[in-house]
Parts: sequence; C-alpha cells; structure tokens
Amino acid sequence: MRRTIAILGATGSIGTQALDIARRYPDHFYPVCLTAHASAEKLFQLVREFRPRVAALEIEPREIPEDVKFCQWIFGKNSSARVLAESGAEDALCAIVGIAGLDAVWTALDHCQRVLLANKEALVTGGNLVMEKAARLNKPLLPVDSEHSAIFQCLQGAGPNRPRRLILTASGGALRDFPLENLYYATPADVLKHPTWVMGKKITVDCATMLNKGLEVIEAHYLFHMPVEKIHVTIHPQSVVHSMVEFEDGAVLAQMGNPDMRGPIGYAMGYPHRLDYQARPLDFAAFSQLTFQAPDLKRYPCLGLALEAIRAGGTAPVILNGANEVAVAAFLMERIPFGAIAETVEKTLNRIQTAPVRSIEDVYAADALARKTAEQFLAK
Ligand code: NAD
Ligand code: MG
Repeated sequence: MRRTIAILGATGSIGTQALDIARRYPDHFYPVCLTAHASAEKLFQLVREFRPRVAALEIEPREIPEDVKFCQWIFGKNSSARVLAESGAEDALCAIVGIAGLDAVWTALDHCQRVLLANKEALVTGGNLVMEKAARLNKPLLPVDSEHSAIFQCLQGAGPNRPRRLILTASGGALRDFPLENLYYATPADVLKHPTWVMGKKITVDCATMLNKGLEVIEAHYLFHMPVEKIHVTIHPQSVVHSMVEFEDGAVLAQMGNPDMRGPIGYAMGYPHRLDYQARPLDFAAFSQLTFQAPDLKRYPCLGLALEAIRAGGTAPVILNGANEVAVAAFLMERIPFGAIAETVEKTLNRIQTAPVRSIEDVYAADALARKTAEQFLAK
C-alpha cells in the first residue's frame, strides 16, 4: 500500500536520502509535500521528479518556473509547518535543521498519523511538550537519528523488560585526533571532513564539538523516558555499532551496520517493515578491531555543557541549543574560532537564569533571549 509522506527539509542531507528511498519504492511512498528553506532550484528539480501536491519555501523565489506550477505553493515564515494542513500527508519526515523544525514537528502531530523525527533540536527544546502532545494524540514519533533508531530497534527485542541503561555511540567527529593544543583554532575546513558520515554542515560541526552527542542524550531522555544518569556515551570511531541497550541481567543488545543514514531513515519510513535499499553487507572480516573509549571532556567541553543543561532542566536545554546555533553559524562564517563555540555556549548558559517551560511560547522566548545574549558575547 502506498503511503503519502511530507518531506520537510527535502533538499538537505536527510531529505535527499529519504527521497532516494522513495525513488526506489514508488509503490510504497508518494512524497506528497516537499519543503525547503531557500534552495529553490534544488526544490524545483525535486518537484519536477516527484510531482507532490504541495510544496513550500521559507524564502520566496523571484519566480516559479511554469513546469512546477501544477502543485500548490506556500511561501514565507513557517511555511514548512503551514503547508501540512494542505498536504493530506499520512506521515511527516521532519528533516529541517535547528529549532526551526520545532513548529513543523508540533504541527505535524496535528495533521499527520506518524512523525518521523530527524530534527533532534525539536525534542531538545520542546521535549516534554512534544512528548505530551504525541502521547495525548496517540501519534508515534519514529526516530531517524541513527543512535535513537538503533535503540528503538533493540527495544523491539525487549519484550516486557525495561532497559537498565542506554549506550549511545559517537564517532568523535572530525577533530577526534586533532592536536589538543591546536583545537581552539581549528577551521571550518578541518571540521567539515567528518570521518564516517556525510551530513549537513551544522550537525557536522556539532559532531566535532560533540555537542551533537549532548543533544542526542537529551533526545534519548525524552524519546525513551530514561533518566539522564542512565544514558552513557562511548566513542566508537568505526561507527558500526549504532547504539546499545543494556538490561537488568547485564545483557547488551546492539544494532550494527555500515554507516549509511538510509538505514535509519528507511526503517522509520517503512516501519514496521524493513526496506531493501541495497545496503552494503557488513563485512566482519574487514574489521581488524571495533574500539570503544570514554569521551575526554577537555577535548569536548560542549558535551559536559549539554549534560549540565539537561540536569538543570527548564529552559536550560533551550538556551544551550540557541547559543550553539548562533555560535556554529558564526564559526562557519569564520567570524569566531572553533574554541569560541564552547565559550559562547558556556557564557550564555551562565548569564541567563533558567525558568520552567510551560508552553511553546516559553520555549521561543528562551530561544530568542539565548540568541540575543550569545550574539552580544560574539560582538565583544
Ligand atoms: P541540512 O542542512 O543538510 O538540511 C536541512 C534542510 O532543512 C534543508 O532542506 C533546508 O532547506 C531546510 N531548512 C533549513 N532551515 C529551514 C527553515 N527555517 N524552514 C524550513 N526548512 C529549513 O541538514 P541535515 O544534515 O539533513 O539535518 C537535518 C536534521 O536531521 C538536523 O536536525 C540534524 O541534526 C538531523 N540529523 C541529521 C543527520 C544526517 O546524517 N545529516 C543524522 C542524524 C540527525
Ligand atoms: Mg546521531
């Protein structure tokens, strides 16, 4: 049976890989809605190929080519969320980057049967509110992040047993072996060559600082209702074990595979069915070793900051995320050195008093304040 799916952030790394799966399975998926931020030409091309019913761009292009006028277009702020009401999509894959994806996730819960969640920032910032809404409306949130997909897959084999610990693996990012004394002045060129995954720029920088793993601990905390103390992080440079679940008897289940995001994306799209996307089989004989090591918080101060933020609770994770988005953008524009990302996040967290989160408005207010405060530090 063919399911209709909205792909929000269709031109990005996750979006294009999801469309690769849709392309292989035209009888399973109809991408009925495609959206993007500003990359109009890329989106026009996808619209020509997949012929969605609706499409949206945050930034309105100067003109729309005649041959893509067959679908309904929506432009402007939050158009990726607004378009969902028109789309009639059964599923929504939220592959927007940053807190910009929160509104789309929130709205997708109203309009779609299932939400496929790549956008971790939506849970980091809107955690309790998003989980409560999903539970109230009885809508599944299917993880797309590879670690969370791995845990979700391991939990299929858990039966009535609650896990005792979750173990998230991390590649350690592009600067894992960079000399510590030069780390502060690492450049975007150093950071953007990720050893095992090809991803959007923001998440690639987050992997190098390991703030990404901090966001993922927060994401796992909400998705799997697991206390933060029971979520562990281990550096696993080969990126073959995607994450693990430990039970009361000490048994550990791991999900493994070659690093290819089409695995977790396809698992969420096809759930509960696995799709054949012609993945390379895992060649055990080719590994001389699989290694695991504890992260060094001197190399990765952002990981420590993220763990402190989730322990502090309230708006602290929102502030962490907002400051990080500002700092990463500044780093990518070569306005600040790599080491200033952690400094900006830390100073912003220290400057702003955390408050409880009672509504989505509280989240956006904390985000705005974090961005303004982080910008002030950057301007100095
Ligand atoms: P990307 O930068 O490659 O793509 C982002 C997409 O979102 C683009 O289509 C862009 O046009 C769109 N977008 C950006 N801002 C928007 C806005 N304000 N409104 C509407 N659309 C907007 O990013 P990515 O690497 O694909 O990551 C997407 C999300 O998935 C992130 O939250 C990331 O953390 C998560 N994720 C990505 C990977 C990966 O392998 N790339 C793995 C795990 C999780
Ligand atoms: Mg991940």
